[in-house]
Amino acid sequence: MTNTRLVLLGPPGAGKGTQAARLAEHLGVPAISTGDIFRRNVADRTELGQLAQKYMDAGEYVPDEVTNKMVAGRLAEPDAVDGFLLDGYPRTAAQVSELDSMLAGRGLTHVIELTADTDEVVQRLLNRAREQGRADDTESVIRRRLEVYAEQTAPLVDVYAERGLLVQVDGMGPVDEVTERLTAALA
Ligand code: ADP
Repeated sequence: MTNTRLVLLGPPGAGKGTQAARLAEHLGVPAISTGDIFRRNVADRTELGQLAQKYMDAGEYVPDEVTNKMVAGRLAEPDAVDGFLLDGYPRTAAQVSELDSMLAGRGLTHVIELTADTDEVVQRLLNRAREQGRADDTESVIRRRLEVYAEQTAPLVDVYAERGLLVQVDGMGPVDEVTERLTAALA
């Protein structure tokens, strides 16, 4: 489904990254993950990476101006013209407005909230910390990421629900089952 302009919302550890890749493939649109782009910039030691790293390591959001500019650049690339899946953006009310202006009237077609219970996500993130050693997967930083999500990002669910765009999908259970729920929600 080209021309799908989808935002995937959900707390850290809900499985957004895994599902975003699968769903994007299914839809034939690029998956754009702000977390992945930031991590790549950190690894490549770019100026953007150096700026973002201290926030990421602390579990805080990178400042809106920086993130907005990065996403605007990415959405302007040719592969995103006919649709995209955004994973990890928008995460603040200011980013919602900025995305609205970037899309200039085209608007989003879907917003999916991938839901997950807190105990389960903390467990998943701690397991991932052991397996992959991501810098922001320590217990205290995980706790901070969940707090920041609850304060700044969870309210966006209501914003998109009011616009009639929101679909909630249960992110618990086997990965394949979650993918099936997601594709069914978009059909
Ligand atoms: P999470 O597992 O916490 O959802 P992500 O991989 O999506 O992780 O993002 C990792 C980090 O990158 C975030 O904690 C934050 O510092 C930064 N980041 C990603 N997306 C955004 C955004 N839209 N606004 C601000 N910071 C962001």
